[in-house]
Amino acid sequence: MMGWFSRRRASAPRSAAAADWLRLARRWVSAWPQLSPEERVRLEAQTCEFRRKKHFEGCGGLEVTEEMQTAIAANACLLTLGRDGPLYSKLVSVLLYEKPFRVTVKHEASEGVIEEYEEERTGEAWEHGSVILSWEEIEEDREARDGRNVILHEFAHLLDLEAGGFDGAPAVGDKAAHEAWAKVFRREYDALIAASDAGEETLLDEYGASDPAEFFAVATECFFEDPLALRGRHLKLYRQMRAFFNQDPASRRRARRS
Ligand SMILES: [Zn+2]
Repeated sequence: MMGWFSRRRASAPRSAAAADWLRLARRWVSAWPQLSPEERVRLEAQTCEFRRKKHFEGCGGLEVTEEMQTAIAANACLLTLGRDGPLYSKLVSVLLYEKPFRVTVKHEASEGVIEEYEEERTGEAWEHGSVILSWEEIEEDREARDGRNVILHEFAHLLDLEAGGFDGAPAVGDKAAHEAWAKVFRREYDALIAASDAGEETLLDEYGASDPAEFFAVATECFFEDPLALRGRHLKLYRQMRAFFNQDPASRRRARRS
């Protein structure tokens, strides 16, 4: 394996490795133009650590390239850029399919009656420490720049998991901070359900109305991909996310625009 971080390339000129990283960061991290020099250095270091410590595996015959690994690691590390502590302590492996993958879903239709059906997925996060992604979806998100980002979505689930489960209640701080988070999230989650039921246009993806964990993942996508809109339309939610991620992407964007 060759790459900008690889030990086998340790003797390569730093400028070549840096140029590789810069090309990939510009291509794959939508927030890259707004990041400060310090944030860029930190993102590169975290991406490098992520790739060194986490296992990547291609599924269905897919060969995972250097670019794929960097694209996934850099987006995952955008979420942890302002946070201290170990990098995705629950994560062991990233499994990558070329296309959306099919899973068997079991669902209790009524008491004692289990229905089983197949569903197509573009990403999944598992409690035992793996994230599954579709490369086709990652590429589509990059091209569309429509506020959706499957990598941010699935890794938000892992941050949520670090606090004990997929429940939309990540480790935000002390009891008071948790209560403030729960209050804002409950209200915003209920509002999304109501808007979705009423067929109204919503900034947040309606998929977030399916359960609190999905709400947190969808809000994370919007926080990083469309921060000015989130701050403008959901200020209290934006403030909670800003405190949790210890980043202020809306101010970052405004500052760089002016
Ligand atoms: Zn999800």
